[in-house]
Amino acid sequence: MTTATVSHVVGEKHIDTATRSLKVFNPATGQAIRQVPMADLDFLNDAVSIAAEAQKQWRETGIAKRSRVFFELASIIRRDQEELARIISEENGKTLPDAAGEIARGLENVEFCAGALNHLKGEHLEQASGGIDVTQLKQPLGVVACITPFNFPAMVPLWMVSTAIAAGNAVILKPSEKVPSSAVWLAEAFHKAGLPAGILNIVHGDKEVVTGILEHPDIKAVSFVGSTPIAKHVYTTAAAHGKRVQALGGAKNHMVVMPDADLDGAADAAISAAFGAAGQRCMAVSVLVAVGDVADPLLEKIQDRMTGLTLGDGAREGTDVGPLITAEARDRAHRILGSAADEGATIVVDGRPAAEGMDGFFIGPSLVDNVRPGMQVYDEEIFGPVLSVVRVDSFDAAVSLINASRFANGVALFTRDGRSARQFQLEIEVGMVGINVPIPVPIGAFSFGGWKDSLFGDTHMYGPESFNFYTRRKVVTTRWPLPSESQIELGFPTN
Ligand code: NAD
Repeated sequence: MTTATVSHVVGEKHIDTATRSLKVFNPATGQAIRQVPMADLDFLNDAVSIAAEAQKQWRETGIAKRSRVFFELASIIRRDQEELARIISEENGKTLPDAAGEIARGLENVEFCAGALNHLKGEHLEQASGGIDVTQLKQPLGVVACITPFNFPAMVPLWMVSTAIAAGNAVILKPSEKVPSSAVWLAEAFHKAGLPAGILNIVHGDKEVVTGILEHPDIKAVSFVGSTPIAKHVYTTAAAHGKRVQALGGAKNHMVVMPDADLDGAADAAISAAFGAAGQRCMAVSVLVAVGDVADPLLEKIQDRMTGLTLGDGAREGTDVGPLITAEARDRAHRILGSAADEGATIVVDGRPAAEGMDGFFIGPSLVDNVRPGMQVYDEEIFGPVLSVVRVDSFDAAVSLINASRFANGVALFTRDGRSARQFQLEIEVGMVGINVPIPVPIGAFSFGGWKDSLFGDTHMYGPESFNFYTRRKVVTTRWPLPSESQIELGFPTN
C-alpha cells in the first residue's frame, strides 16, 4: 500500500502538488511505499523565480559565512547518517554499510566545500604592464540545475549541489523519481545547517520537468549523472540552449589481471567491485580481462568466493547483495544473461535460480566466461551483478580491447610489475585508473569524470574542477594614471 507522499522543497517549504504522481518502490519487497509528485512547467518556473531571487542575497553573503554552512552540514550528516542510510537502503535496495559508504564519499565533498575561501580565491598580477594590474575573479552563475540518478541517492546530489552552493549559486535539484526521499532529507539538513531559503530547491519530476530545465532561460548550467543516451540528450539540448553542461553517462569498467598479480587479492577485488551495490555502481567492474594463463586459477577463486555471498534485503544485517532497482532492470539483466549463452559465452554461475521465489527485484551474482566484444553481455551496460570474463593473450591485447570500448569511466590493472602499471597508465584511454585498486573513485581533493560516452562536457565533477564549472571567470585590468599621462591612442592597446 502507498503510505506517504514525498514533497517538493521550494524556498524551504514542503509542497505537494496533486497533479501527477509516481509510485516509489522498496525494491527488496517489490511493494510501493510512497508516491512522489511530478512537477509541471508552471511549478518549475515558480521554483526558478524563487531561486533567482534568493541567489541575489546569497552571492552577497560572505564566503566565510557560506563555509560555515558546510562545517555545520558535515556535522549534521555525520550525526544523523544512520537515518539517511536507512532511507537510501529502503528506496534503492543497497545494503546499510554500502549506504554508509556513499554518505562518507558525499561528505568528502561537503568538507572540501567548507574550504570555499581557498577554492574561490582568484588571481592577481601586479605590474602586468607598466602601471597596470590584472585581477581574475570567480563569480557565481546564478541558478543552476542538478539532475541525479537512482544509484547514489545522497552522494551524487552532494557532489553537485555542495559545490554549486558554496560557489554562490542557487540550485534546482531534480533527483531520480525512483529514490526521491534522500534529496528531501539533504535539503532539510542544509536548512538546519543555516542555508537560507530558496538556495536549494528540490523539484521532483521526470522527462517533462527535465525538458523544462534544459530549455529554461534563467537556468545557467546543468549537471547531470545518468545513463549514456539521456546524458547525450541532456548535453546537446542544454548546450543548444546556451548552458554550460557536464553530463556523466554510463559505464562498462574493465579490470585487467596480469599473470604476476596476487590472485587472492585480485579475486577479492573482483567480487567486491562487481557485486557490491548489486553491480549498480557507475564504477562497478563488469568485465574481468584475464591475461595469459591467469583465467582458470582466478575464476576458481572467484567462483569459490561467490558461494559465500548472501542475496537479500539490503536493510537486513548479513546481506551482501541487494535487489536491482526495478522489475524492468531485473528482467533486462535476466534477458542479457540468457543471451550470453545463446551467443556462445559460458555461464559459470547463473544468478537467476538464486532469486526464484523472492518478492523483490532480485538476481543473484552471476559469472560468465568466454565473453567477447559483439556479444550483448559485453557491449551493453547491464547495471546488475553480472561479471563477464574476457580471456586475452597479452597486456597489449588487454589495452586494445579496453581502448576500443565506447565507455571509458573507470578501469583497473592488477599486477606486481611497476613497468606494466606505468605503461597501462600511459596508454589506457579511460578517465579514472586504478592500479591494484578496483574502484578508483578519486578522493575529494581531485575531481571525478570518465572519457568518451561516459562524460559529455569538459569538466569533471566535485573537487577543484567543479568550482570552475560553477563559476565564471572575470578579468579586471586596472590602471590609475596621472592626468598628465592621458593621451588619445587609436591603435590596439599593447603591453
Ligand atoms: P537515467 O538516465 O535513467 O536517469 C537519470 C536522470 O535522468 C533521472 O533523474 C531521471 O529522472 C532522468 N531521466 C530519465 N529518463 C529521462 C528522459 N527520457 N528525459 C529526461 N530525463 C530523463 O539513469 P539511472 O537509471 O537513474 O542511473 C543509472 C545510470 O547512471 C547508469 O547508466 C550509470 O552508469 C549511470 N551513472 C553514471 C555515473 C558516472 O559518474 N558516470 C554515476 C552514477 C550513475
